[in-house]
Amino acid sequence: MGCSPSSGIIARLFFMDTNNTPPVCNYEGSDYQTSFWDQGGREYEDRTEAIALKRLLPESGRLMLELGAGAGRNTSRYADFERVVLLDYSTTQLAQAQARLGKSDRYIFVAADVYRLPFVDGLFDGATMIRTLHHMADAPKALGQVRKVLGPGSTFILEFANKLNAKAILRYWLGKQDWSPFTLEPVEFVALNFDFHPKAVKKWLGALDFRIKKMLTVSHFRMDLLKKFIPTGLLVFLDSLAQWTGSLWQLTPSVFVRASVTRDGKVPPKGIPRHNSDEAIDWFKCPKCEASPLEFEKEHLHCSACGSDWAIRDGIYDFREPLGK
Ligand SMILES: [Zn+2]
Repeated sequence: MGCSPSSGIIARLFFMDTNNTPPVCNYEGSDYQTSFWDQGGREYEDRTEAIALKRLLPESGRLMLELGAGAGRNTSRYADFERVVLLDYSTTQLAQAQARLGKSDRYIFVAADVYRLPFVDGLFDGATMIRTLHHMADAPKALGQVRKVLGPGSTFILEFANKLNAKAILRYWLGKQDWSPFTLEPVEFVALNFDFHPKAVKKWLGALDFRIKKMLTVSHFRMDLLKKFIPTGLLVFLDSLAQWTGSLWQLTPSVFVRASVTRDGKVPPKGIPRHNSDEAIDWFKCPKCEASPLEFEKEHLHCSACGSDWAIRDGIYDFREPLGK
C-alpha cells in the first residue's frame, strides 16, 4: 500500500540518493483529503485535533511554518499568526490547499523535503507538524531541521503516532502482535509509517534544546464500534476532557506536544534571522548548498553560489529538485 493511507491511488516513494537524505513519503496525485478526511468518517479525529490545537497554540504569532500541510485542513486554525508557510512534498496537495484557502499574501506555498528545509535559520516563531512525523524514516534528523529554522522564544507543536497505545499493548499481551510497544525504537508497521515511543520523542526534543511545555493525548475513543454507536459530539466532549491526562500518561494512538525554544536558547549556528523582512523571497536559502539570499529571476529563484535554479509554478515555490535536472 505504500505510505499513503488513501486507497486506489499510487503514492510513489522517492529516494533522494543524490543528497543522501532519507526516503520521503509523497502524496503527489493522492486523494487523501477526500478519501481519508472528507468521506472517511474522520470527523471525530478532526474535531479532537482542533481542540488540542486550540489548547496548545500561542495567542499570537508572526510567521508559522506548517510542516506536512497537505491540503490545508488545519491551516485556518492558525488564524492568530500573521502569515503561514505551508510546506509539503506534494505540489498537488499544495494546489488543493491553494484552492481551499485562496491566493493571498497571508499564505506561502512551498514544496520541499523536510530533511533539507529551504529557509534561513531562526526565521519562524511558530511551527506545527501534525500527522507528519509518522512518515519520517529519520525523525531526529527532521526535528533537527525544524529546530534550525525556529528562532528564540518560538513554539513548536508536534503530533506523533504513539506506539505505546492501549490497543497495541493489549495486542502484544495477547500474542497478536510481534513487536513490543514498550521499547524505545520506532516501529514501521507499513512502509514509511512509523509509530514512536513517547520517551524517545521527549529525548529527541530535549537533545535539540526544546523545552516540553504541555502534552495532550488525543483520540482516546478511536474505535469504529464507538464511533458508530455514540454521537460524535459526545465522543468529542469526552475526549476533550481526557486530553488533559496527557501530562500524566500517554496511551492514545495520537499525542500532541507543545515545545518551546527558550529565549536565551542556543542562537541558530549560522545565518541571520531576517525577522524584519516581509518579503518571502528573503526567507529562503538554497536547499542544495545552503547559501542565501536567493535571487528572483523570471519565474524562478536563482542561487548564485551553486548555480541552482528553483521553480515557482502557479504560486508554489518548488525546492525539491533544481530546474534542468
Ligand atoms: Zn545553492
